[in-house]
Amino acid sequence: MSVLTEVLSANEAYAESFGDKAALALPPARGFAILTCMDARLDPAKYAGLSEGDAHVIRNAGGRASDDAIRSLVISYKLLGTKEWFVIHHSDCGMEFFTDDVIRGLLASSLETAALGSDGFTDVGEGPGAREGDYIDWLTISDQVESVTEDVRRIREHPLVPGRIPIHGYIYAVSTGRLIEVPEATEVGAAR
Ligand SMILES: [Zn+2]
Repeated sequence: MSVLTEVLSANEAYAESFGDKAALALPPARGFAILTCMDARLDPAKYAGLSEGDAHVIRNAGGRASDDAIRSLVISYKLLGTKEWFVIHHSDCGMEFFTDDVIRGLLASSLETAALGSDGFTDVGEGPGAREGDYIDWLTISDQVESVTEDVRRIREHPLVPGRIPIHGYIYAVSTGRLIEVPEATEVGAAR
């Protein structure tokens, strides 16, 4: 079942009470950006207290500093003036539950959704699956503290990122809603 009707009806209600948001400026009013995971349990607007127009939120699987995430961050400061960034990964992230080899094998078998059982993912679909050359670096995670620190470092050391922007590293706890600092990451990400 498609959720199209539900989404359009929710949008209708939102637009009805849109208020003065048409007057919002394009650059984020509070001058910061968050890179975080796409996990459905995370709502950056709520956990970081954002309203429309406040901040840039860049999301992908794991909240990883991929080339595309860095592309967005560079545009965020260079053209839209953000001055402070957060990298926020989280506990119980799906990116910890598989490796590049696992997802490659599942995709090679079929393009259907895999089943998750007690011994991990199994492919239950009918082939054909992905071709040999359809390779992506999945940026899976084996340790959250390491992944946050690695991503903050990758952004910090990127030649298009100025040293003056502080980059804070945090892990969001899905059990409590709290942001927990990763001091190693914040140290790496300190403004220079
Ligand atoms: Zn996640």
